[in-house]
Amino acid sequence: METAIYPGSFDPITNGHLDVLETGAKIFGKVIIAVARNSEKNGFLTVDQRVELIKQSVQHLPNVEVDSFDGLTINYARSKNARVLLRGLRAVSDFEYEMQLSQTNSALCDEVKTVFLITKPEYNFISSSSIREILLNGGDISMFVPESVYKYLSKQYKNI
Ligand code: ADP
Repeated sequence: METAIYPGSFDPITNGHLDVLETGAKIFGKVIIAVARNSEKNGFLTVDQRVELIKQSVQHLPNVEVDSFDGLTINYARSKNARVLLRGLRAVSDFEYEMQLSQTNSALCDEVKTVFLITKPEYNFISSSSIREILLNGGDISMFVPESVYKYLSKQYKNI
């Protein structure tokens, strides 16, 4: 059974992330979606809040686990006996950064390979940063995020 790690900031998780995760869960025996703790420093939500929102959004996916990790992604992957890192690609603009990251990880640890998935076109433009921007300016984020994320964030930011 092949385990894949889906690492990221997920600040917050979006429908685009979820689409990549759902496809990954069909391909791999197990997918661990893992929030990088080093992304907390300039974060919007705490890592614990992000993990909780992911847990609420993946209840329909029995072979998905939710976790967080410190340090290098490849070391975390090794600790979980995973040989695959899952990443999503939206547009050409993601490609250069993702290629560099993947090649750096391969140079550090050749056994761990990155697999890229492309989302459905309707999720292609969604990013966590645009969701934060819409939310902080009082806009409607309901079509971009899972329902539990929408409920949680709209309650937290109802006075904005
Ligand atoms: P990062 O780890 O760069 O902070 P994120 O946590 O925002 O990135 O996202 C984790 C992964 O999901 C990245 O590979 C990113 O390119 C991908 N991703 C983010 N939003 C989408 C989307 N709408 N469609 C497909 N992939 C996405």
